[in-house]
Amino acid sequence: MNENLEIILKADELPDKWYNIIPDLPEPLPPPMDPPEGYSRVNELPNLLVGECLKQEMSDQRWIPIPEGIRELYLSAGRPRPLFRAKKLEEKLGTPAKLYYKSEFFSPTGSHKVNTALAQAYYAKQQGFERLTTETGAGQWGNALAYAASLNDLDCTVFWVRAVYRWKEQRLKFMQMFGAEVYASPSNHTEFGRKLYKENPNHDGSLGIAISEGLEDAKNDPKAVYCLGSVLNHVMLHQSIIGIETMKQMEIIGEYPDIVISCLGGGSNFGGIALPFMGDVLTKKAEIKFIAAQSEAAPNLQGEYKYDFADYAEKTPMLKMYTLGHQISMVPIRGDGLRYHGCSPILSLLRNLGYIDTIAYPTDEKHVFERAREFVQTEGFIPAPESAYSVACAIDEAIKCKKENEAKTIVFNVSGHGFLDMEGYADILGLKKQPERA
Ligand SMILES: *Cc1c(COP(=O)(O)O)cnc(C)c1O
Repeated sequence: MNENLEIILKADELPDKWYNIIPDLPEPLPPPMDPPEGYSRVNELPNLLVGECLKQEMSDQRWIPIPEGIRELYLSAGRPRPLFRAKKLEEKLGTPAKLYYKSEFFSPTGSHKVNTALAQAYYAKQQGFERLTTETGAGQWGNALAYAASLNDLDCTVFWVRAVYRWKEQRLKFMQMFGAEVYASPSNHTEFGRKLYKENPNHDGSLGIAISEGLEDAKNDPKAVYCLGSVLNHVMLHQSIIGIETMKQMEIIGEYPDIVISCLGGGSNFGGIALPFMGDVLTKKAEIKFIAAQSEAAPNLQGEYKYDFADYAEKTPMLKMYTLGHQISMVPIRGDGLRYHGCSPILSLLRNLGYIDTIAYPTDEKHVFERAREFVQTEGFIPAPESAYSVACAIDEAIKCKKENEAKTIVFNVSGHGFLDMEGYADILGLKKQPERA
């Protein structure tokens, strides 16, 4: 029997530190800035974000201890998560490449987002807040924060991009189950949302707009604090648990990746798996190719590297990042979590220095979902629509290896499961509604 099909870590092997790549970056990270005109957004940050997270945002400490309370929450969320060898998929593809995937889909809410949601909720509770506010696009972040709020005995308010709110009924029930209050965004509940809502009650919304609403809601209530599920440095820090575990697991079987792949919207799951390995590249001269799988609906890594706002209404400081412009409109896709105009400043810097490759898949999503189906039919796990991009990219690379007869080792992240998003697969792959068969 091949004993390396599932590589597991025991509970006492759960990492006790997060990895902060900032001190290892080849250049200083450009800090958040204020726009040339108007009030200071930077000075407002302490009123908007959880204090401990803001501290971590700026930290130059390489390893940051994970508080015992958060480690317990990680254990209760099923961490550490297994790393699997995709042996059946390799055989089906006939590739000499070795494929390993990290199972972030084994998450109570279905995605990697719990890794930072639990940390943010824990710190918010410690700081005495009673309510969390946030935005969500695909719904995964809203689910994760609703769950984390509930486990930490906090209330939670979610502003959800209307175009997605409408087709993901199950996810709405999921958030309600955890006691969250959910609004379709733009909503009638905030001043900023109301403006857009009045113009058009069917407004599709966008992540940028929903962020503006979440920020406004938190600002107006001293007991509330705003949480962001991606992009920021402290989110990359919390997500580093994915890559730290994966490195340990590869070490156990004496393997090392030639290629590391994941999908990228704002960058949190990509950063999570990639940055600990990137640390090796920056400090030990390891050679790894990193590929971020994106959609042509939001190929932010092919945008411009410049200072831009993180939200539509320009309430956030400006971040130096690859961006498509904070008010750009994007076509809806099923992998909606990948639809964000900007990429994490840390990953943007690394991209700018040539450490990260990227591919953007067509917005019809056929190729991506067909590849995901090959994975489903051999490995048995149904990836989230976003994670399907990671899977597709890994398969494409494995096929290249076949053509060039190269036995590369490929590690990819499967950031979530698609149990609540099956309609997306049905639509794109044309799974037929069938009359009752008896
Ligand atoms: C939110 C989400 C993404 C995209 O966001 P990142 O911050 O880029 O990771 C990808 N996969 C899943 C399952 C998600 O929920």
